[in-house]
Amino acid sequence: MPSHQPTSGMAAVDPTYLDMSKRPNAQAKASEPNRNPDYKPNKPHITDTPITKKNWHKHVNWLNVFLIGGIPLMGCIAAFWTPLTLKTAIWAVAYYFATGLGITAGYHRLWAHTSYKASLPLKIFLAAVGGGAVEGSIRWWARDHRAHHRYTDTEKDPYSVRKGLLYSHLGWMIMKQNPKRIGRTDISDLNDDQVVVWQHKHYLTVVAFMGLIFPTLVSGLGWGDWMGGFIYAGILRIFFVQQATFCVNSLAHWLGDQPFDDRNSPRDHVITALVTLGEGYHNFHHEFPSDYRNAIEWHQYDPTKWSIVLWKWLGLAYDLKQFRNNEIQKGKVQQQQKKLDQKRAQLDWGVPLDQLPVMEWDDYVEQAKNGRDLIAVAGVVHDVSDFIKDHPGGRAMIKSGLGKDATAIFNGGVYMHSNAAHNLLSTMRIGVIRGGCEVEIWKRAQRENKDIQYVKDDAGNRIVRAGDQVTKVQQPIASAGAA
Ligand SMILES: [Zn+2]
Ligand SMILES: [Zn+2]
Repeated sequence: MPSHQPTSGMAAVDPTYLDMSKRPNAQAKASEPNRNPDYKPNKPHITDTPITKKNWHKHVNWLNVFLIGGIPLMGCIAAFWTPLTLKTAIWAVAYYFATGLGITAGYHRLWAHTSYKASLPLKIFLAAVGGGAVEGSIRWWARDHRAHHRYTDTEKDPYSVRKGLLYSHLGWMIMKQNPKRIGRTDISDLNDDQVVVWQHKHYLTVVAFMGLIFPTLVSGLGWGDWMGGFIYAGILRIFFVQQATFCVNSLAHWLGDQPFDDRNSPRDHVITALVTLGEGYHNFHHEFPSDYRNAIEWHQYDPTKWSIVLWKWLGLAYDLKQFRNNEIQKGKVQQQQKKLDQKRAQLDWGVPLDQLPVMEWDDYVEQAKNGRDLIAVAGVVHDVSDFIKDHPGGRAMIKSGLGKDATAIFNGGVYMHSNAAHNLLSTMRIGVIRGGCEVEIWKRAQRENKDIQYVKDDAGNRIVRAGDQVTKVQQPIASAGAA
């Protein structure tokens, strides 16, 4: 048994699991698509040796190359000699959607994430059409997908986009994978699901029938187009549905926005949603994987969600799981906050107060007298020499404050300066007056162990809100106080 195959957790509690003959085989059959049939757990794996000119072909999973690339290529060639009739075209598209839903609503949201419960007829339908998409058995698919969620972007993620877009789309299937590398996941619930177990056991029959025979029978018996059904609704439809759903692993981790969390690769984008029957809101999905929805807004494209809701109305699906809006909005607000912090960090808010040198009042007055254009507001000294000529209130007005405590003048004594003026003033600050500023008060409080904390962002930068600048004094006090 490959080491990453979950050793059924149920064995300890479920007596039927002690009987090996009744236990579903954890080792995928050699004939199962997307598996390396020659896998021997104790032999060094080919992926342990570097790819060279001599051994590269040993690294390739040729069965998958044939299934994913070879068959579609033959289908494309055969399509040249096979006319496409309207009825077959409509059938191929309809069957494309059905088999796509088998993956998105069945394999993914029902079995991999148990985001809702399905009645037996719906389960059988989803296991059948999902098999027709030719992407492996539910058991195999859901196990890898759970590992993908648990170990996103790490070495244990079976289709990590960190290894490249092409790798996450196809490479992980075309190149042999060391099963020991894939993260462990619990699939005991799937081993208990009779539909899953049956589909896994009879996977090749399901694939052959639902992938090729059934679509051919429909168009053959329905309107006599046997060859068209085989090529278009069978082979080429498989190719399109495979490529579309592979986009969830590649495109959904590469293209779009990250409204909920940007620490990992999953992203939201309408193009991915259009291609994948609504699986494109992948940033949301990775944050809330057991939610039956991918798109939470009514206007977003998520036909998989619509189908599940329709099945609920028909009594086929129940217990649809949904995260509270409160939880969803919290994630969104935190991410917005993070973006805001990044934007704030790029702006010049002036030298942080606690990094400014402390000046004596007399020293400040002296320097101003000697010609430096210094102005003190709320205990903070500003060098306004470059700004005097641009002062909207005129040179004379600003010059009248030089060398004085201009707190009251600035805060309404002469003119109630705007929020922008306070922000601009903070970029000119060069020192604080001893005993006259909140930094001094703050430092004294620290010495006396009083807890005065400024609101800071993730990077430790102080957040200065509008109207909260140190120079903003709500009720200007007598200017002499600063001295
Ligand atoms: Zn993902
Ligand atoms: Zn998922």
